[in-house]
Amino acid sequence: MSKEEFFNFLKEIGGLINIRRKMDGPLCNYGCECSDGWLELIAELIQELVDAGWTREIRQIKEKFGGLRFYADGLPHSGIEIVGKYERRSFTICEICGSTDQVRLCGTRWVKTLCDQCQPPCNVSI
Ligand SMILES: [Zn+2]
Repeated sequence: MSKEEFFNFLKEIGGLINIRRKMDGPLCNYGCECSDGWLELIAELIQELVDAGWTREIRQIKEKFGGLRFYADGLPHSGIEIVGKYERRSFTICEICGSTDQVRLCGTRWVKTLCDQCQPPCNVSI
């Protein structure tokens, strides 16, 4: 999913509400700080939350320790469970290209979930 498709998706669902942060640029308006490989995953997560009754109040969407972090307010009863499911899934998807082949955690102090294409294997173990 491209950034443009992601924005169109957000428009279709009525946009996300972010009252805490005011930044420039459309992606920052939604507090999303992930690379494009996860946009489809994030869109699926948002759709499932909206279907479950989420108010669309977003705090921040980012990567931490190689995994997706999705912070939101106004979550429905099942929201925590839904978010957890997608955060776990993010460890199987390359954050850069979205591939699910040969994906693993890369790096030592700076950890990312990447595939062999985006980050050739090295000898560093984590
Ligand atoms: Zn990749």
